[in-house]
Order: sequence, then C-alpha cells, then structure tokens
Amino acid sequence: PPSRPAAPSLRPDDVFIAVKTTRKNHGPRLRLLLRTWISRARQQTFIFTDGDDPELELQGGDRVINTNCSAVRTRQALCCKMSVEYDKFIESGRKWFCHVDDDNYVNARSLLHLLSSFSPSQDVYLGRPSLDHPIEATERVQGGRTVTTVKFWFATGGAGFCLSRGLALKMSPWASFMSTAEQVRLPDDCTVGYIVEGLLGARLLHSPLFHSHLENLQRLPPDTLLQQVTLSHGGPENPHNVVNVAGGFSLHQDPTRFKSIHCLLYPDTDWCPRQKQG
Ligand code: UDP
Ligand code: MN
Repeated sequence: PPSRPAAPSLRPDDVFIAVKTTRKNHGPRLRLLLRTWISRARQQTFIFTDGDDPELELQGGDRVINTNCSAVRTRQALCCKMSVEYDKFIESGRKWFCHVDDDNYVNARSLLHLLSSFSPSQDVYLGRPSLDHPIEATERVQGGRTVTTVKFWFATGGAGFCLSRGLALKMSPWASFMSTAEQVRLPDDCTVGYIVEGLLGARLLHSPLFHSHLENLQRLPPDTLLQQVTLSHGGPENPHNVVNVAGGFSLHQDPTRFKSIHCLLYPDTDWCPRQKQG
C-alpha cells in the first residue's frame, strides 16, 4: 500500500522556552540551569531577567533579555515580565510558547515529544493546576463599577506551562498582562488562565508531566523521573523537597538533584561521573 507522507515532525527550534529569573538569582539558580538543561536546549531557551549582567550576556548573547521590569516580587513586575515573554514569542514566529521558572529543570526531549502530539494551530494550554478546583475571581469591569465572579482553571507558573501559537495569537487583545491582571487582581500565571478560560472559553489540559515544588517531589516514582517534562526543587525554606534520584552526586554536591538528573539524561556530559565499565 502507498505509504502516507510523514507528518512534519516538531523541531527543537519550533519551541520557545521562556525562563523567568531575577538579577539576584543569576548566580544561585541560573548558573546551574545553564550548565545543565539549557546547555542542551540552546536554540529554544530565552532568559527573561530584570538587571544587566555582562557575564550572563556573554554566555547567553541575544537569548538573554533584560525586560527592564522592576526587580520586585509584585503582581505588576511579574506581569510586566510575562508581557515581554509573550511579545518576544510572538515576534519569534515559533509554534509553541512554554514558560518556566528558574527553579525548574526542563527535559527538552520529553517536552518536544509531548508537544508533537498536538497541533500548534489549535487552542492548546498545557500544564499542572496548583489547586484541585477552579479558582474563583472577582472581575472588575469598566472602572470597577460592575463586579462579577468568574471561575477558571490555571496552570501553576512554578511547574511550567505551554501555549500553542494559535491560542497565543487569540490572547493578544489582553496580553499586555498588566491591565488584565489588575482587573482580576491575580498573579501572572492566574491571569493567563483567566484570559484562556475566562475570556476565550478555551480549556487547560491538565498534564501530570509538569512539576513544581508545591508538590512533594520526593514522592515522584524514581523510574518515571526521566520521562517528566519539568521538575523543580524546594526553596531555602524547604531544601529537602527534591526528587529522589540516585547517581554519582551526594545531596551535598547536588542539593537540587538537577545535576544527577542531567547526567542520567546526558551521560556524555564532560563533568558527569564516568560510567562504570563492563
Ligand atoms: N522572581 C522574579 N522577581 C522577583 C522574585 C522572583 O522574577 O522579585 C521569579 C524567580 O526568578 C522565579 C519565580 O519568580 O523564576 C518564582 O520565584 P521563587 O521560586 O523564588 O518563588 P515561589 O513563587 O516559587 O515560591
Ligand atoms: Mn519557586
């Protein structure tokens, strides 16, 4: 029988991965990401920060974007970064937008595999909800005079999420996230959910392959770790919330476990422990 033409497969540079960071995390967090997963996903990764850092710019070139958003943890500042991420994605012409935090490990191979099962021209919003129920928000319409409530699911930013280009383009009337976020008084990731579900009527596809440190990461089955799309690690308040991975690095040498994961995925990396012979 005549063979069907193969579907055009997704290429790494069809995906735009935005990493959100802040000046004070360049050393403590971003350095590790650059040495691990970003080193294997250079064409796909763009770093969004809020302060100049010549050393980082040397390494990342035009893939480091200083958003000029303020370096504070406010709704305004975080939504400002999300808007710049969105604009750069639209400008890039790529098929998929994915957002992650600077405490995420991204398995670029798994991500590509996951995205290749969807069409970028359809409405796709993929990620992990942080709640087990939709959030209910109060919408202020027209100068705060009319107040209505709206219920929607959103993907938690700390686990990473993806949007198809088709859906992202439909979001453009609201994608200066600042004013939209003010309408619902919610953080950046909730605002994305509000636009997708509340305003556009599309749906979040709940994926179990994205992980934030809001979960108990130790409970992830070790034999599934290399198939996950994103991983994370607990912050300074919860340093023991890390994935349970064996390998050549002790907890002291690799407190986040990202190096251990990376060496299992890419054992040919020059700084990885030598594999045992025979
Ligand atoms: N972040 C930021 N500006 C800030 C503080 C944090 O852009 O002033 C970023 C940080 O780089 C990270 C994300 O926001 O990518 C979440 O920060 P963090 O992991 O520290 O806090 P969480 O919300 O996960 O507890
Ligand atoms: Mn975090």
